[in-house]
Amino acid sequence: MRLMKFGGTSVGDPARVSNLCEIVRGALALQPVVVVSAASKVTDMLLTAARHAAAGTVDASPIEARVTGLLHAFGFERALVAAELDGLTAALTQIAARREATTELTDLVASYGERISVRFVAAVLTAKGVPATHHDAFDVGMTTDDHFGGAEPLPESEAALREAVGALVASGKVPVITGFIGKTRDGRVTTLGRGGSDYSAAVLGAAAGSDEIEIWTDVPGVMSSDPRVVPEAHTIPVLSFDEAAELAYFGAKVLHPKTIHPAVRQGIPVRVKNTFEPSHPGTVITAQGDPGARGARAIAHKKGVTVVNVVSTRMLLAHGFLARIFEVFARHRVVVDLVSTSEVSVSCTVDREDGLDGALRELAGIGEVSVQRDRTLVCVVAAGLFVNPEVCPRIFAALGREGIAVELLSMGASAINVSMVVPGARGDDAVRALHRELFGGAA
Ligand code: ADP
Ligand code: ASP
Ligand code: MG
Repeated sequence: MRLMKFGGTSVGDPARVSNLCEIVRGALALQPVVVVSAASKVTDMLLTAARHAAAGTVDASPIEARVTGLLHAFGFERALVAAELDGLTAALTQIAARREATTELTDLVASYGERISVRFVAAVLTAKGVPATHHDAFDVGMTTDDHFGGAEPLPESEAALREAVGALVASGKVPVITGFIGKTRDGRVTTLGRGGSDYSAAVLGAAAGSDEIEIWTDVPGVMSSDPRVVPEAHTIPVLSFDEAAELAYFGAKVLHPKTIHPAVRQGIPVRVKNTFEPSHPGTVITAQGDPGARGARAIAHKKGVTVVNVVSTRMLLAHGFLARIFEVFARHRVVVDLVSTSEVSVSCTVDREDGLDGALRELAGIGEVSVQRDRTLVCVVAAGLFVNPEVCPRIFAALGREGIAVELLSMGASAINVSMVVPGARGDDAVRALHRELFGGAA
């Protein structure tokens, strides 16, 4: 079978949905299993509605307007997703009653984007002569832990998904399954975190034995940089799992960072393609990557990053200093991306504020803590920095010419990435200057 995942933009406007149908029709011989996201903007709208509900206002009308606009474009009525829209209003009402959007209720609200999407996409496929069925992932075995907002599929999901998806494929209709969501063992709805439909697709594809996992999106593959920042960015035809993982982890939104794990475990290639240009081969991500690749490969960046510095002369060379700091972060579930140390200080970046306040209060007991907000993390991925030693000096020369200060620096032991933090206001300039230096062009 062939797992095909379509992201928010691919199910978010009528022309793209029509393309999706033709792409799936063209793949029928491969026994496609389709995973879809919520239509673009809908997850953001749902999260906003949850916040408003916590302040006492229950209003699902912006989501309803967006969704019915899509339905009407294909001649369908609200009735197709009435149960989901009603479920959404009920969840918002629960939030309003408590005056608090708990992570659990927020996940329940967010889940409706994908639950509406599968019903819509399956109906359009069927109407266009490609018989399809719709499924909520938790009904086909996607069981997760209870870390609402970033849940992990449990190991037992694999066998359950394999069996259920196998049966659906055998039925001869195209199954359309929700990305992004699951349920705990005791039946509470969870989400896998923003952008999590890619991860769902990889988990489902690996469980069901897909020969390749296709991620259909709005750009022709993984590119040398985010084309929204660098219009000259080019598609990278072949990437290794390691290179793709670094890029995704350091901000290339085109792929959820965890997507690669299930694929790596089973050696399944992941292909990223453009719904508006189906004949473009896009990017294929394989275990080996491109053995002929040399020098810089791509530049990823992540905005809104916070740097935490802990300075402690008392702790100079003391054993257990780093362990104490990271134990605090771990307990508060704060994810640390980059770390850089000097004799008396530790600096690290975190990409979310969740849990940070509590962690900072505790860190103040270990050393002097300072925080820099609104930073941009820039990551250059290269094919072997040790064998291509010219890459690093070119990075610093390019940034130096632009007068951009590097505030924190880290080079992974994997020797395929150099990551740095620059002031947020210069983030885009840094990415463009590096792209110009490393790949040429007029960016
Ligand atoms: P989808 O809705 O299909 O999941 P996303 O918006 O999550 O799509 O991801 C696609 C977007 O990722 C692109 O529109 C692009 O702006 C962004 N992006 C960031 N870095 C890269 C990169 N290196 N290559 C391609 N796209 C990138
Ligand atoms: N709809 C979810 C989000 O916007 C998941 C996804 O699109 O991958 O984050
Ligand atoms: Mg995405």
